[in-house]
Amino acid sequence: MTRIAIKAGVALLALVLALLLAIPYLIAPTWTCDRFLRCWGRRAHDIHHDGLRVQVRVAPRFFWLFNVLFPTSRALTMGRTVLTRDAEVAWRVRTLRHEMRHAFQFRAAPRKYVPRYTWHYPRTGWRRHPMEVEARAAEDWPIDSERVPQT
Ligand SMILES: [Zn+2]
Repeated sequence: MTRIAIKAGVALLALVLALLLAIPYLIAPTWTCDRFLRCWGRRAHDIHHDGLRVQVRVAPRFFWLFNVLFPTSRALTMGRTVLTRDAEVAWRVRTLRHEMRHAFQFRAAPRKYVPRYTWHYPRTGWRRHPMEVEARAAEDWPIDSERVPQT
């Protein structure tokens, strides 16, 4: 009962936040996502590939909330910001390649990124989600900034 109430509370909070951020997102999607995500956690390092630079942050408190709705999620990318659950995830090479692909998906169609992701998610889940399939395929391909420590 309590867990359901917590889930409902977090879902309501997420809905209110989404509605508050919807208008700035439609006007300036990259700016809005960066401003919102960079309120969380601390900067770990930057990654870059093919002219795109992305800030990686460690934000455990964000994931305390986010994981109520998406328990297996370890990282989230929007705009030019990656939030990670902990420092280990923030330096994992395959995760960084994966999240960098999401950053490119965002850059290719900033206004469509969040609607497209949320449209597919309930229909395909994470495994067969086309944006996730593409990002998982990118995990085998090095990015320019792979001078990061290997895990
Ligand atoms: Zn992903």
